[in-house]
Amino acid sequence: MIRYIFITGGVVSSLGKGIASAAMGALLQARGYKVRLRKLDPYLNVDPGTMSPRQHGEVFVTDDGAETDLDLGHYERFTGVSARQSDNITTGRIYQSIIEKERRGDFLGATIQVIPHVTDAIKEFILTDPGEGVDFVLCEIGGTVGDIEGLPFFEAIRQLGQELGPERACFIHLTLLPYIPAAGEMKTKPTQHSVKELRSIGIQPQILLCRCDRPIPETEKGKIASFCNVRPSSVIEARDVGHIYDVPAAYHAEGLDTEVLWHFRMDDAPKPDLSRWNEIAQTIHNPDGEVCIGLVGKYTDVPDAYKSVSEALVHGGLANKVRVKVRMIDSEQFDDEHHPLDILEGVHGVLLPGGFGERGAHGKMRAARFARERGIPCFGICYGMQLSVVEAARHLAGMKGASTTEFGPTDVPVVGLIEEWTKGNQKITRDENTDKGGTMRLGAYPAILRKGSKVAEIYGSTEISERHRHRYEVNRNYIQQIEAAGVVFSGMSPDGLLPEIIELKDHPWFIGVQFHPELKSRPFEPHPLFASFIEAAKVQSRLV
Ligand code: GLN
Repeated sequence: MIRYIFITGGVVSSLGKGIASAAMGALLQARGYKVRLRKLDPYLNVDPGTMSPRQHGEVFVTDDGAETDLDLGHYERFTGVSARQSDNITTGRIYQSIIEKERRGDFLGATIQVIPHVTDAIKEFILTDPGEGVDFVLCEIGGTVGDIEGLPFFEAIRQLGQELGPERACFIHLTLLPYIPAAGEMKTKPTQHSVKELRSIGIQPQILLCRCDRPIPETEKGKIASFCNVRPSSVIEARDVGHIYDVPAAYHAEGLDTEVLWHFRMDDAPKPDLSRWNEIAQTIHNPDGEVCIGLVGKYTDVPDAYKSVSEALVHGGLANKVRVKVRMIDSEQFDDEHHPLDILEGVHGVLLPGGFGERGAHGKMRAARFARERGIPCFGICYGMQLSVVEAARHLAGMKGASTTEFGPTDVPVVGLIEEWTKGNQKITRDENTDKGGTMRLGAYPAILRKGSKVAEIYGSTEISERHRHRYEVNRNYIQQIEAAGVVFSGMSPDGLLPEIIELKDHPWFIGVQFHPELKSRPFEPHPLFASFIEAAKVQSRLV
């Protein structure tokens, strides 16, 4: 029997609903249950693929090529369960499919309405087969209760609550208990109002997860329980913690999973084994040292834009028992007026993340050049790899006009638009006029690594599969010329046509990858490239 847990949010946004859902999944997993997490996003975009990182943070890509909400990254990192296309839906996608059906005449003349057509489509999405043996499906509803666009989603989960019954559906509401210094009190009124709002649309939450910055007095817990119609023990204190990986153990200590299981009358549930979470917390809070990584990007003022990269760096630190301090560096700082040394002082490794467009790209190339020439560990990801190749072509191989067609037409397109590639046994074709949304090389693709290369050693294998999200590729016609200058193309697509990895021959650690390894890194399984990069940064930190 599959049970469903719905997680909604109230009072304000940014309370960490994604992490709370992920932590809840991790706790059930720690008790031996199989979970799947899903995110329902009420906005009108078909997916976040075309949204600016400024608006939405990073786009998380799944193995099956879906461009999804970054919360799916939290889900994967906390539970280790790979997300799928069928784990994230938006209002846009629902309307798109309903309108397609309507145009085909599939509704046989019926009037199409939010209720039941949109709500039915949402319910169908939630009930999609979660896979073999799954015990719990956790569904997070984006936004906060009261948002106009969220209404069909709340109505759909209300109906499901009714249809599934309390033995198969549980509602958790995440709220905020602000502390008002002038009054010297923690305030419960916003939570009361938020639950009132939820109840006015027919949903009675069973558990309240209350974000706060200090302990909740028992009297206040009692007040919330009474006004919001929940058991006092179901008012769970979700106090700020030092690190996101402390969250599962903290929520367990406050009884979150116990309350959920009580709700489902699963009193004989096994006790959770939180040892791996405790080990991680131990390493995070008692590292043997610290390294500083300079992340040179375009959206450095929006930390969510590089969420998975920052997390993967933390994981690389866990593998090496060091704390990783990430210094966000705006790539536009690398201009004629600043010497790279002044910007990168104290940095033990340079990370060049993915990106799009010409703005900020020249700065990334300057940073790459400095790291290459000074022997500083440097890790280029996707655009970071492409720009490292252009930089090496220009300054190492002497190909002055080398460029990427992403900057505009060029005579030496070392990086160019891919018009054709193969996925499985299918040929995929694109041109400049193809839609922007969902049309990149997306999702997991295999690569073959050169025997004896540094990456083969790091992966401990010559066959890998990694997730992609890009339109351009390094042009294989220039490989020979660039290799002659000391750049090794150590990973290629299985058909030998698309360069996947480069590494520098005479450099302590300079690797560029066309894919996004950060998307597969997890605290319990740090990605080998990130573990190795941090190891190199550790060596560098002893040199400086
Ligand atoms: N802009 C580059 C491309 O589309 C790189 C994309 C990325 O870094 N994700 O190919």
